[in-house]
Amino acid sequence: MPHAVSHLRAARLARSAKPFLARGGFKRERCADCRLVPSHCMCALRPSLTTRAGVCLLMADIEPLKPSNTGWLVADVVPDTFAFGWKRTETDPALLALLRDPQWHPYVVFPGRYAAPERVVRTVQPPDSLRDDAQKKRPLFILLDGTWSEARKMFRRSPYLDRLPVLSLEPDQTSQYKLRNSGRNDHFCTSEVAALCMSLAGERVAEQALEAYLAVFTQHYLHAKNQQPIAMDGAAHQRLREVSLPPGRA
Ligand SMILES: [Zn+2]
Repeated sequence: MPHAVSHLRAARLARSAKPFLARGGFKRERCADCRLVPSHCMCALRPSLTTRAGVCLLMADIEPLKPSNTGWLVADVVPDTFAFGWKRTETDPALLALLRDPQWHPYVVFPGRYAAPERVVRTVQPPDSLRDDAQKKRPLFILLDGTWSEARKMFRRSPYLDRLPVLSLEPDQTSQYKLRNSGRNDHFCTSEVAALCMSLAGERVAEQALEAYLAVFTQHYLHAKNQQPIAMDGAAHQRLREVSLPPGRA
């Protein structure tokens, strides 16, 4: 079933006057569900999980169209993933409704040095530590999905985010993401950021599934781009099976 990012991509495509051609992308037929060429389709490997935490992607204009976008992978793995296109001048009422929905506790995920200190948090309260039922809201991680300058603009120019806590991540690892070379190994892709959030929320399975799924996607993407065949039984595939299938099925 198409997920939120897939819907956003379809809506964005319908609005474009000319067909979008990804820079450095390949112009061959692609699978509608994983965006890869059919010979490298990874739909059969999509994990099936349940999570308490959710993700809300605010996506820069052409981000849903980029074949290397990893917000798509988050939507594949985390069942409650919402996605909205970001515009400075208009805001989707559905986004505002989601942020007001009492079942969620929204966090804007962004480096703390850009926010007023009183808004910055570094941890997510695990549900077991809360005694009051009213406090047991599900964490909703708002990820700003775009280039670094687009993300900064979204953070500064979205008044509805101003009242929300800012979750500042302090990762101790370097980025594994190899598809867009930002020239910095501390620049995390959206899927890696989501994995770090799941870790803070105590969602260990989702964290590991996101990491393993990104590794498999990266392999499929690069092999497809270089027109090399893909082996479905390598170490990355084995790791993904281990973390995303219940014991006994791996
Ligand atoms: Zn596919």
